[in-house]
Parts: sequence; C-alpha cells; structure tokens
Amino acid sequence: MYPSRFRYEAPRSLDEAIGLLHDGGDYAKVLAGGQSLVPLMKLRFASPDLIVDINNLPGLDYHRADPDGTLRVGALCRHADLERSALLKTTQPTMAAAAPVIADPIVRNRGTLVGSLCHADPQGDWASVVMALGGSVVARGPGGRRTIPIADFVTGPFQNVLDPDEIAVEAVIPAAQGQRAGGYLKLERRVGDFATVGVAVAVETSGDTVTRAGIALTGVGGSTIAATAAAGALTGGPLTADRIGQAADLAAEAAQPRTDHRGSAEYKRHMVRTFVTRILTRIGEAGPAATAGSPARADGTRGGLGGSSPRDDTGRAA
Ligand SMILES: Cc1cc2nc3c(=O)[nH]c(=O)nc-3n(C[C@H](O)[C@H](O)[C@H](O)COP(=O)(O)OP(=O)(O)OC[C@H]3O[C@@H](n4cnc5c(N)ncnc54)[C@H](O)[C@@H]3O)c2cc1C
Repeated sequence: MYPSRFRYEAPRSLDEAIGLLHDGGDYAKVLAGGQSLVPLMKLRFASPDLIVDINNLPGLDYHRADPDGTLRVGALCRHADLERSALLKTTQPTMAAAAPVIADPIVRNRGTLVGSLCHADPQGDWASVVMALGGSVVARGPGGRRTIPIADFVTGPFQNVLDPDEIAVEAVIPAAQGQRAGGYLKLERRVGDFATVGVAVAVETSGDTVTRAGIALTGVGGSTIAATAAAGALTGGPLTADRIGQAADLAAEAAQPRTDHRGSAEYKRHMVRTFVTRILTRIGEAGPAATAGSPARADGTRGGLGGSSPRDDTGRAA
C-alpha cells in the first residue's frame, strides 16, 4: 500500500526543524532512519500531514565518550555504526552485545538508536539496553533542551513523552562507577526478527561487590520492563549462584508475557529466567574482564556479554 499524501521537508538546521514541527502541530512526524515510520505509513497506521526529515541536520551522527566516560549517541547514529564501534566493544558490553542482533544489516544501515527509543516498540531492543544502563534521552524544542530518564521517556507501547515540536537529539549513557560488565540475549524465531524475549543486563563492580545493576526486558509486556527488584537483589554483594538465582526469579516475575504465536506466557517467562541466569553466570565465572562474542546460536538465541576491558574475539580478555 502507498502512504497517504504528506508534505515533506528536509531542513538544514535543528532550529529550522523544530520550527517546522512547531508549525506542523500534532500531525508532523520526524523521519530519522525511517525503518519503523515508513512501514507504518505504508500500512496507513500512521498518516502524518508533514514529514520533517532530519537526515540533513549536521553534527548528529556521532557516538562518543566524554572525558568522564559518559557515552553520547547522536540522533543520526545508525545501528550499524554501533555494531562496528570499537568504543562500544571496549567500554559498553551490553550495547556491544545488542547492536549486532537488531534486525538485519539493511535495517541496521539506516535505523538509529534514538529513533528506536522514540518509536517505543515493546519489542525494540535498544530501550531495554538503555534502561539497564540507566540512560536518558536529551530533547530539544522551542523551549530549549531537557534531559529525560529513559524510564520516564517511554510511557507505553509506541508512546513517549516528547512534545509534538520536540526532537530527541541524543541518548546519554552515564559513566560506570566501577568495572562494567553485561550482556544482551535475544530469542527470535529467525535471524533478523523482533524479539520473542530479550534480556539486557548491566552490572558495575568494585572488587567482587556489585555496586550497580540494571536488568530490563524486551517483548514480554506492553512496554519495555525495568526489572528493578531483580537488579536490586544483585547490588551490595558478589555474584553468587544464590543471588543470581534470586535475580533471575524476580526478573521472571516482573515479566508480563502473553501467550501468542511466538510461544506461551510460561515459556517466555522461563526464557527470561534462563537469560538472566546465563548472562550473570557467565559474568561471574569469567570475571568482569571477560567476554563471549555475539554469534547466532542454533537454539534461536543471539547476543552476548562482556566486560569493559579490551578483548580479543576468542572470549579472552586481550
Ligand atoms: C524488517 C525490520 C526488522 C526490524 N527488527 C528490529 C529488531 O529486531 N529490533 C529492533 O529493536 N528494531 C527492529 N526494527 C526497527 C528498527 O530498529 C528501527 O530502525 C527503529 O525502530 C526506529 O529507528 P529509525 O531511525 O528507523 O526511526 P524512524 O522510523 O525514522 O522513526 C520511528 C519513530 O520515532 C520518531 N523519531 C525518530 N527519530 C526521532 C527523533 N530524533 N526525535 C523525535 N522523534 C523521532 C519518528 O517520528 C517515528 O514516530 C526493525 C525494522 C524493520 C523494518
């Protein structure tokens, strides 16, 4: 099907883009990678009057670390940029594990992390990853700039708190306070599919003690789920089998899966428990400086885990 008729604008500055959105009111839409918006328009689930294409805006295609380790991902940074990023491989294990399992190479070449957060699909992988890492979104509108924690940014399925004339300009991941380790595991029916179940885990350790933990779930509820009780069970002590088991049970309890063509609710809950256990056990066994890669697995799970030290591709710290 063809989209309904719309006006198309491709501004050259952020101020111009915000002005167009302001004048366009509720019926204007930002176009970033177009990998979610265009299919929706072709199916006529979305029929905006005005498309504001931000791909010509200068200086938004970055991802970089501040001197203190804070990571910033600009609105035009593509999934593929993150998949290939040496910075992520050495400093952001949860993100590095997730980047290669988003969709397929064609979608990854155009789609953006920030667009994925804005789209707020309960099956979107990046929202869980950013949630596990305690990240936020920076928005710019006529009234200036504001920073919104990801837990407040996503308000429901395909809903976010942006005003119609605001543009999300970057996502921010706070610096780790200790050694960072983590992983992302995803169950999918075939490579490139959306998650049947996805689990993002990020932990920070000082010595043997977990000082911060984040666990978030993809595809097992009406929106991305922050498993805060599960993460809380990990902090303040070492990654023992008992604590891992408790966190895995609490994460499974936090899931709100529904039985559908991808599997029963019970099966999906079981997969949440399994993924949390798998990621944390591997981190615990290997120590925060070790990693496993992100190969496609025969059991339909993809993703990996790692620590924040330089490493080779054999699973050993380099
Ligand atoms: C075949 C296929 C498979 C896919 N599989 C997966 C998958 O496995 N996992 C996954 O996570 N995703 C998947 N996706 C979605 C993909 O990751 C999209 O790239 C992503 O959801 C949206 O990013 P985008 O840059 O393409 O945004 P767009 O499609 O351009 O926009 C999406 C929405 O966000 C808004 N928006 C975008 N950027 C901004 C901004 N800067 N400020 C304000 N609003 C903004 C738009 O107005 C629109 O409402 C898949 C898509 C396809 C087509």
